[in-house]
Amino acid sequence: MIYFMTKGHTWEHDVQTIIQVFYPNTHYYTTEQPVQEGITIESILQGEKAIAVFYENGIQKEQWEMLCQKGQSTEKEKKRVVKGSIYQLLKQKTAMRPQWGFITGVRPAKAVNELLDKGYTPQQCICYLTEGYDVTPKKAKLALDVAQSEREILSQNGGEDISLYVGIPFCPTRCLYCSFTSYPLTQYQSRVEQYLQALKKELAFLGEYAKNLQLKTVYVGGGTPTSLTEEQMKWLFEKMAEHFDLQKQGLEFTVEAGRADTITKGKLSVMKEYGVNRISINPQTMNQKTLHIIGREHTVEDVKKVYFQARELGHDNINMDLILGLPQETAEDVEQTMAEMEKLRPDSLTIHTLAVKRASRLKENFDLYTLTKAKEMEKMISIAFERAEAMGMKPYYMYRQKNMVGNFENVGYCMPHKQCVYNVQIMEEKQTILAAGAGASTKTVDFSQNRIERIFNVKSVEEYISRIDEMIERKRQGLYGLQKNMF
Ligand code: SF4
Repeated sequence: MIYFMTKGHTWEHDVQTIIQVFYPNTHYYTTEQPVQEGITIESILQGEKAIAVFYENGIQKEQWEMLCQKGQSTEKEKKRVVKGSIYQLLKQKTAMRPQWGFITGVRPAKAVNELLDKGYTPQQCICYLTEGYDVTPKKAKLALDVAQSEREILSQNGGEDISLYVGIPFCPTRCLYCSFTSYPLTQYQSRVEQYLQALKKELAFLGEYAKNLQLKTVYVGGGTPTSLTEEQMKWLFEKMAEHFDLQKQGLEFTVEAGRADTITKGKLSVMKEYGVNRISINPQTMNQKTLHIIGREHTVEDVKKVYFQARELGHDNINMDLILGLPQETAEDVEQTMAEMEKLRPDSLTIHTLAVKRASRLKENFDLYTLTKAKEMEKMISIAFERAEAMGMKPYYMYRQKNMVGNFENVGYCMPHKQCVYNVQIMEEKQTILAAGAGASTKTVDFSQNRIERIFNVKSVEEYISRIDEMIERKRQGLYGLQKNMF
């Protein structure tokens, strides 16, 4: 448990975020005065000076002060020094060196893009991160590389472009670390047909709404979309094709095939037939023992088998997702996984670092697992990065999450011209994304006012089925109300 208190400001959330970098996965409480047992951190703002104080068992041990830059006393700058003072205090206290310093947003590349828009040079962007927020030069360069790659894609955005997301929230079983809207088929099999019928209604509405707009990317995610049967999958694509032109020239059409135990030759052929031109096969690790620990029922050999089947059927844009820091894995395991990737040669790799999410089984049974230490994670990330680069890949999108082991990042690497445009649009929020399915959120971008609005669907499959008309009505009001400003 960590306690904290603030004086002279009310940025509790920011204070807690920095504390979490150094003391992850514990409980955080605010207090009025230092607690008698355990650690309390106090954050004080006095004019242009921020002070952070460390108390142990109620006794003051150390403190750190930071001043706003000369002539700058904006709220943003004051917040920066508040966070910076706590960060420096805890960096000294714990002897940790967080690679992302005290930059706290989940999208560091978005921050760099905003600087580039303001006219900063690449070097000035690097300095902003390294000097202003103590980001390491390596991570600052990563953020800049990703931002520059994203800019190439975003520069092609047209005013009437949209993307479509379709969510299939079913999986064969639930993975240890999962916090997504995902329902195990063992329990929810009987709901799938009703779910698809509800989805059909929502797609019909969205298709009508989007008929004069330019569909650029389609992403069928989940869950695991391939947990549908071949017939269900075909039926779904047919319904989608009734309302959206899936064979349109230049359309990026991704299906998250996900787990190898759900992929068959038949489903891979159906995907090809309906114009899917990017699939993701996600082993997370190529270590058999770990697959078992995380609750996957397929083998490493199954992954290879479906991968080669997909290639044989002409799938020429295959992504693979990996997670670093899975329970009991070491840097050697990551070496082995990356060696397998080198043999398979996917077109892109999405490399996550493990995050302990609130709704996951991992969080519930936290005491049963030993998490990877930050130093080991750094090693794993370096191995993955170097091996991806050696394969000819470059980083093209990135995001961070709270409670990631070691406060690192998730990075998408790809071969030239194999970026997933949908992923970039999601990160940068520069395009309207229509979303159908339980837990899906439609995001509208109003360029005239630089405003983003979200329209949420309910998460529960049962409620989505029973309240589908209400979900559509919500969208009708949200989308048509905004449309006059948007397009
Ligand atoms: S396959 Fe993905 S969505 Fe399904 S349970 Fe595992 S992590 Fe969650």
